Amino acid sequence: MPQCTTLLHAKKILTQDPRRSLLEDASLAISKGRIVAIGPRCELSGVWQAADERDLGNVLILPGLINAHTHAAMTLLRGFADDLPLLDWLNQKIFPREAALTPELVELFSLLGFAEMLATGTTSCLDMYLFEKAVFAAAKRAGIRLSAGEVVFAFASAACANWQEALAITEELAESTACESRLEVMVSPHSVYTTNPQILTSCLDLAQKLDLPLHLHLSESPQEVAQCQKMHGQSPIAYCASLGLLTQPVALAHVVVCSEHDLSLLKAARQATILHCPGSNMKLASGAARIPQMQQNGLFTALGTDGAASNNQLNMFLEMNRAALLHKLIANDPETLPAGTVLDMATLGGARALQKPDLGSLEVGKWADLTALDLSAPNLVPCYAPISHLVYAATGHEVVLTMVEGEILYDHGRFTRFDYEALCREIAKVTVTS
Ligand SMILES: [Zn+2]
Repeated sequence: MPQCTTLLHAKKILTQDPRRSLLEDASLAISKGRIVAIGPRCELSGVWQAADERDLGNVLILPGLINAHTHAAMTLLRGFADDLPLLDWLNQKIFPREAALTPELVELFSLLGFAEMLATGTTSCLDMYLFEKAVFAAAKRAGIRLSAGEVVFAFASAACANWQEALAITEELAESTACESRLEVMVSPHSVYTTNPQILTSCLDLAQKLDLPLHLHLSESPQEVAQCQKMHGQSPIAYCASLGLLTQPVALAHVVVCSEHDLSLLKAARQATILHCPGSNMKLASGAARIPQMQQNGLFTALGTDGAASNNQLNMFLEMNRAALLHKLIANDPETLPAGTVLDMATLGGARALQKPDLGSLEVGKWADLTALDLSAPNLVPCYAPISHLVYAATGHEVVLTMVEGEILYDHGRFTRFDYEALCREIAKVTVTS
C-alpha cells in the first residue's frame, strides 16, 4: 500500500489543471509537501495509507490563491489615509509615516497581513517593502510562501541610507533564503519615479547576476506617465524597455496607463507578468489597466491586493470579484473577464509572476498549496458552478483550511504556527497618531 503523509477527502476539488477539471467526492494525497495523487475518492481511499487522513466534508478544495502584489506590513497603515490622489497619498501621508518604521513594526504587521491572507485562502504572496528581512522573518513564523525583496529608492529610507544598501540587503536575502523552499527573492526597485537610470540598471545587473526576477510598480497613474515623459522623453514602459529591464523576468505592478506602443513593447519582451490591482487602482482613482487587451495580446496577467493602506483588505476573493466586475463595466460587456479567467489570474497567473511553475494548480508533482471553503455557508448554497461562487459569491470568510507544502497553517479559525491573540495584544500596544 503506498504511503503518504496526508490524505484529504472533499465534496469537490477544483484542480485548475490544463482541463480545469472539477472532481466530485474526491481525494488528494500529499507526501513531502507535494501532491502524489489526486482523483475520485473511491480510487484513493483504502489505497493510500496516510499518517493524517481527514474528511473535510462539504468543502471545495482549490489551489491556494496567489497575491501577486502586496506590502504586507502596510496593515500598520490600514485606514490611516483614505480618499486621496496617489502622489498626495504617498508623499504627504505614507512616506512620512514610513520614515518612522522599525524592523520590529514591520515584522509584527507583516505577520498580521499574512494572518489575513491565510484566513482568506492565500498561500503565496509577492511583497516589497522596507526592512524586508523582517518580512521574511514574519513569513517564516506564519509559514506562508513569500517572494520578495528590499524596496530600492533613490533616496534614504528608514531602512537604508542609500540604494546600494538596499541592493546589498537583497543580495544577503538571496543567500540566506537559498535553501528555503517557501522563500524567494526578487530585486525590487520601487518605481521609475522614485529611482533613476543608474539605479534601475544596477537592479537589472543584480537580477542577472543572481538569476532573480524583478518586481516594480510601473505606469500606475497618468501623473507618473507625464513626469516620465518630461524627464526621460518617453513613457515609463518605453523607458524601462530602453534600459533593458524587460529582458529579464519581471513582475510589473499596475500598468494602468498602457498605449498601443507600450503594449507592443511588453508583448515583444515576453518576460513580463502584469500584476493587476483593481481595488487599489479604483480607490486611488488611478484608472483601469487594459487587462482584457493585454490578455488578447498574449501577456501574462496576475492579481494582487497591493498594501492595506490602499485597498484596504488583503483578501484575494474580494480582488477577484472587483476584477471581474470592473472590466465588465469598462468594456460595457458582461462577457469580459469571465470568472474562469479571473480565477486563472489568481492562481496560474500568480505562479507565473513568482516564476514558480510548480504552483497554481493541484496536479501530481506540484506543491500541496491549497485552501478549502465551506460549501454550506448560506451565500454558497446552492452550488451549480464552483468557479462562479469563487469569483461572485464567496467573501473569503468561508475558508476553513489553508495549507502550504502540505502543512496546515489555518484550521477552522485557528492559526497553527503562531498565537493570534498574542499578536493582537502586541499590535494594540502600538499607537499610531495621524
Ligand atoms: Zn504597491
